[in-house]
Amino acid sequence: MTTDRVSEAPNILVITPHPDDAEGGAGWTIARWVNRGSKVVLVVCTNGDKGTSDRGIRPEELAKIREAEQLEAAKVLGIQGVSFLRLPDQGLQDNDEFREKLVREIRMHKPEIVFTIDPSRPYIIHRDHRMTGRVALDAVFPYARGHLAYPQHLAQGLEPHKVREVYLWGSESPDTYLDITDTFDTKIKALLCHKSQMGNASDPTRIARRRERFEELGKRAGVPLAEAFKRVELGR
Ligand SMILES: [Zn+2]
Repeated sequence: MTTDRVSEAPNILVITPHPDDAEGGAGWTIARWVNRGSKVVLVVCTNGDKGTSDRGIRPEELAKIREAEQLEAAKVLGIQGVSFLRLPDQGLQDNDEFREKLVREIRMHKPEIVFTIDPSRPYIIHRDHRMTGRVALDAVFPYARGHLAYPQHLAQGLEPHKVREVYLWGSESPDTYLDITDTFDTKIKALLCHKSQMGNASDPTRIARRRERFEELGKRAGVPLAEAFKRVELGR
């Protein structure tokens, strides 16, 4: 859904905690906007070096593998740019260092829409997911908007920027369902690029189960398959 608040092919910034989270949460929606002519840039916050149960792999090896997988998946979705912040996996903090990096990305890429993960899921939620969603929302508002927040950016030619809408995936209270019927296969293909994370995800039974989940969401929108988001509008 494109609202009258944003253009037909809005610039989009996707902020993901780990490699693979964005494909699972918003893969089709990203691909659809790319097809419509949007420029999409993906910011990967952590290096993902703790995402394995394989005791034979060293963290630095895993980080390299996951970056390569992420670049491959981004290519499948048609994402034009990937920015790796390489912050420690399981180590994101709600602090100035992280916030400044996200504000910088917003001011550099000037997105009308930001996609990130909903940080407000209660009880069990990966800490990096909570931190990413929370700090990304703070970066959008108020930090990226005011010239007095991180004034060093001005000297580097980065102007304050107002994001118009935020789409949160993984929300417990979604209010926006987007039809993913046409490019479900692209989404699956992008997810399968994350080989180190996906185990036997290419197993047809698992794909069918995944499909059922999106069929359930589709029912709420009256379409065969949908991704679900909490949409947040921001004032001018
Ligand atoms: Zn994650």
